[in-house]
Amino acid sequence: MSVVVLIRSSYGNCRRAVAQILDFFQLPVDGKTVLIKPNALRASEPEEGVCTHPAVVRALVEEIKLRGARRIYVGDNPGMSAYGSNEEAFRESGLLAAAGPHYVNLGARTRMVDLPPQWGVRVAVSELVLECDVLISVPKLKTHGLTGLTCALKNSYGFLPGAQKAELHRRAGNPFAFCELMVDVFAIRPPDLVLVDGILAMEGNGPVARTLRYLGVLAGARDAVALDRVMCHIMGIPLEQARSVTAAAERGLGEANIQRIQLIGELFTVEDFRLPPAYGPGAEPECLRAPRGGDLGSRFDGILPRVQIELCDGCAACVKACPAGALDLRGGHPTVREEACIRCFCCQETCRTGALALRGN
Ligand code: SF4
Ligand code: SF4
Repeated sequence: MSVVVLIRSSYGNCRRAVAQILDFFQLPVDGKTVLIKPNALRASEPEEGVCTHPAVVRALVEEIKLRGARRIYVGDNPGMSAYGSNEEAFRESGLLAAAGPHYVNLGARTRMVDLPPQWGVRVAVSELVLECDVLISVPKLKTHGLTGLTCALKNSYGFLPGAQKAELHRRAGNPFAFCELMVDVFAIRPPDLVLVDGILAMEGNGPVARTLRYLGVLAGARDAVALDRVMCHIMGIPLEQARSVTAAAERGLGEANIQRIQLIGELFTVEDFRLPPAYGPGAEPECLRAPRGGDLGSRFDGILPRVQIELCDGCAACVKACPAGALDLRGGHPTVREEACIRCFCCQETCRTGALALRGN
């Protein structure tokens, strides 16, 4: 039976909770090469809640050291080229200091890996992901405009360095297909343990919204699917809207039935947790099921990234990041061509000023 551990914690005392989770799962790290993979989406301050908090990563590094790991690496592939360099993302988010000498630019060495044939593409995967003895995924709990949530499954999308992430968005073409593709990337190397930073979670227009919600929970599991299922419960995302979770369960990668997940700790739901525009009460699950390359379905059709001109400095990072070429810079600000937009929301992730928000018509 899959087990998910929920521990109440703050950043100030998270080392104890991290140790409890490691003790519970008895992860064998003695003499092993361990890769710790936080979510380092882009250069941002820890208080912004965009990346895994450095206190959690620092605690994990210290605890893994104590448990006799031979080598420890801490690394991720931040978003796309427009998101800034790997080291910059780690430095600004405090993760570089937390990782200390264990920091590694995960994108520096890669190996080509086949994805399932329907994607018609090979991808460059960070070699350390494939070579490490033990992989510990340390996601940040956030909402995500495209996938509903970003947590254990989505954190593995960071196996892929650079601009290919955007190209895969274009190939997927709609939210349903993207969730399937994301699971295919996850399946390249499922983590041995997932430890979620759910202390300060993100709600609303994630994954870069300025709306944070204190949940005060660290969660751990060996089964990433079960863990995401439990996080959906906490955030109030119905299972039928969490396509990444159901797709992963259908492929035997983990448990999505909450009745079959053993919970250690108190399960709760935050009743008024704010979800992205396409999710939550009233959303039709069918909208995610549009055929690949076809109409997105009513709920997503009405949602577009919209620019708030007073916040936009005209940097054009969003234009460079758009995999569909749907953004033009006119009059110093981007405009979205609705017919070309695939609703991947990469532009929103890229914008450092918060000028792009997802809005319904
Ligand atoms: S405009 Fe934004 S949401 Fe639309 S395709 Fe481009 S990056 Fe994706
Ligand atoms: S919307 Fe954001 S990313 Fe795009 S040009 Fe304006 S400030 Fe730059």
